[in-house]
Amino acid sequence: MAGYDYDLFVIGAGSGGVRAARMSASYGARVAVAEERFMGGTCVNVGCIPKKLFAYGAHYREDAGDAAAFGLTFAEPALHWPTLIANKNKEIERLNGIYRRILGNNGVRIHERRARLVDAHTLDVGGERVTAETVLVATGGRPQRPGIPGGELAITSEEAFYLEDRPDRVLIVGGGYIAVEFAGIFNGYGSEVIQAYRGPLFMRGFDVDIRTHLAEEMQKKGVDIRWRTTIERIDRIGEGLAVALSTGETVVVDQVLYAIGRAPNVADMGLEAVGVEMRDNGAIVVDDRFRTSVDNIYALGDVTDRLQLTPVAIAEAMVLAANLYDGKDLRMDYADVATAVFSNPNVGTVGLTEEQARERYGAVDVYREAFRPLKHTLTQAGDRTMMKLVVDRASDRVVGCHMVGPDAAEITQGLGIALKCGATKAQFDATVGIHPTAAEEFVTMRTPVPEPEAQAAE
Ligand code: FAD
Ligand code: NDP
Repeated sequence: MAGYDYDLFVIGAGSGGVRAARMSASYGARVAVAEERFMGGTCVNVGCIPKKLFAYGAHYREDAGDAAAFGLTFAEPALHWPTLIANKNKEIERLNGIYRRILGNNGVRIHERRARLVDAHTLDVGGERVTAETVLVATGGRPQRPGIPGGELAITSEEAFYLEDRPDRVLIVGGGYIAVEFAGIFNGYGSEVIQAYRGPLFMRGFDVDIRTHLAEEMQKKGVDIRWRTTIERIDRIGEGLAVALSTGETVVVDQVLYAIGRAPNVADMGLEAVGVEMRDNGAIVVDDRFRTSVDNIYALGDVTDRLQLTPVAIAEAMVLAANLYDGKDLRMDYADVATAVFSNPNVGTVGLTEEQARERYGAVDVYREAFRPLKHTLTQAGDRTMMKLVVDRASDRVVGCHMVGPDAAEITQGLGIALKCGATKAQFDATVGIHPTAAEEFVTMRTPVPEPEAQAAE
C-alpha cells in the first residue's frame, strides 16, 4: 500500500516467518523480514535438523553392536566429537545460505538485525526506521532456564549443540520432547545419562502406553531415570558439577542439561506499548486468523505457544499468506497433527490418546501389540516395539495411532493421512500389509484388549 515501505514486515526468519514472507511475496506483496540471529530459526540451527543429525549419529554404536549377530564385527567405536560438531555446523551454514537465497529469489528484503515495534506500523530495525502496512511477529521461543542456586552452570539444548566434548556423565532435567531426545543422543554416544523428571511418569500429554513403554525401553538401554525428582542446587567441584537432588542424593556429572519447556520471544519488542495482548507466559494471543489484539499485527508459530512444531508454523504461515494476499479465507486445522519424538526408540503418534478418546467418545476399542522386532530375533537384544490403535466403537473410526519403536516417525506420517481421511478400523483391516515390516501390525491387529474394568478384575 502506498505510504508504507512494505506491505508486510515479518519479524523472525524461522520456520513460520520464512514461509510467510516467501508466500506473501509470491502473491505480489512487498515484503521484508528481520532476523537477529540465524537464518531458518530454531529448527534449522538449534532444533529439528541438528537434533536429527545427532540422533542418527547416536545409533551407530548400537548398530555396530547388533551387526555381530549378522556376521560383521567392527573395532570398538572411537568417538571424535569435534568431527560431529564441525560437520553439523557445515550443513547448517549450507542451510542458512539456502534460506537466504529462497527469500532473496522471491524478492523479500532481508534485514539481518533485531526488529522492535515503535508503533503499530513503524519498526526500529537495528536503528533504522521502517514502516509496513501489516506486521507479522514470528519470533519463536527460547529455552527456559532454571531458577535454582547454581542454575547458571547448567546448559540448555542451545549449548548442547555446540559442546566441545561429549560429556562422560550428563544429568538431563525434564520429561518432554527435548529431554528424552537428548537422553537418547547422549546415551547412544556413550555418556552415562541420568534423567530427572519431577512427576511419576514423563511425556505428559502422550498416550499412557507410549509413556510407560518408552520409559522401559530407555531404561533397558541404560538411561537412569529418576522419577519424582527435582534439582535443588548445582555446585562446581573441580572439573565436574555436584547436583543436589530433591531425594537427598548428590550426583556428580560433567553437564546438566535443562529441557523444561520454552518461553515465547517477546521481551523488549515494544509489543505491550502498541497494545498486543499476551498470556501470562508471554505467548501472543491470536484469533483463528492469527490476528492479535492490534488490527494490523499478526503472530504465528511458537510465539503463540500452541503446537510448537515446525510443520505447524509452516502450515499457519501458508494459511496467513493466502488469506492476506491471495484472497482466501482459510483456517488452520489443528486436528490430528501427527508428531514424532526422536528418542531412542522413536515415538510416533497421531490423533487422540486412549484417555482422550474415552472422554470424547465413551466406548472405544483399543488394539495393542508389543513384540520383538524381527532384526532382534538374531541379536537377542531385549528391545520391544509397541503399537496401539484407538477406535471409536460407534463410528468404527480410528481416532488414535501410537507407536514406540524403530522408524515410528516414518510410519506415523502415513497413518496421519489415514486419520485425516477419517479411516475406519474396517478400512485398516481391509488394507493388505507389507511383509515383513513392523508397520504391517497396524493393519493386522484384530483382537481388542479387554476393557479396563475386565483388566482390573483379572
Ligand atoms: P523460530 O524457528 O524459533 O524462529 C524465530 C526467529 O525469530 C528466530 O530465528 C529468532 O532469532 C528470530 N527473532 C526473535 N526475536 C527477533 C527480533 N526481535 N528481531 C529479529 N529476529 C528475531 N519441531 C518439529 O516439528 N520437529 C522436530 O524434530 C523438532 N525438534 C526440535 C528440537 C529442539 C531442540 C527444539 C528447541 C525445537 C524443536 N522443534 C521441532 C520445534 C521447532 O523448532 C519450532 O516449533 C519451530 O522452529 C518454530 O518456528 P517459529 O517460526 O515459530 O520460530
Ligand atoms: P516440553 O513442554 O515438551 O517438556 C517440558 C518438560 O519439562 C516436561 O516434562 C515438564 O514437566 C518439565 N518441566 C517444566 N517446568 C519444569 C520445572 N520448573 N522443573 C522441572 N521440570 C519442569 O518442552 P521441551 O523443552 O522438551 O520442548 C519444547 C517444545 O519444543 C516441545 O513441547 C515441542 O513442541 C517442541 N519440540 C518438538 C520436537 C519434535 O517434534 N520431535 C523435539 C523437541 C522439541 P510436566 O510434564 O510435569 O509439566
